[in-house]
Amino acid sequence: MARCPDCGGEVKYKAPFMVCLDCGLSFRRGELDRVKTEVRAEQKKVIGESTEETEKKERDRKRAYHDWYLKKEEK
Ligand SMILES: [Zn+2]
Repeated sequence: MARCPDCGGEVKYKAPFMVCLDCGLSFRRGELDRVKTEVRAEQKKVIGESTEETEKKERDRKRAYHDWYLKKEEK
């Protein structure tokens, strides 16, 4: 299962795009590596901005919940 490079959420393939179910990020198949690099560059650019910090915390919370949910499903 592919993971969103931005928020770590679940990604579904909806031709011709891969779409993140959590944040709505969409990209073509094969672009994942490029998108990852772009997202990282974007995050570096906005480091220090309070809105981004809030967003990041929200993402981390979501990811933690997602991981918990997946662990629960494995059992
Ligand atoms: Zn996402």
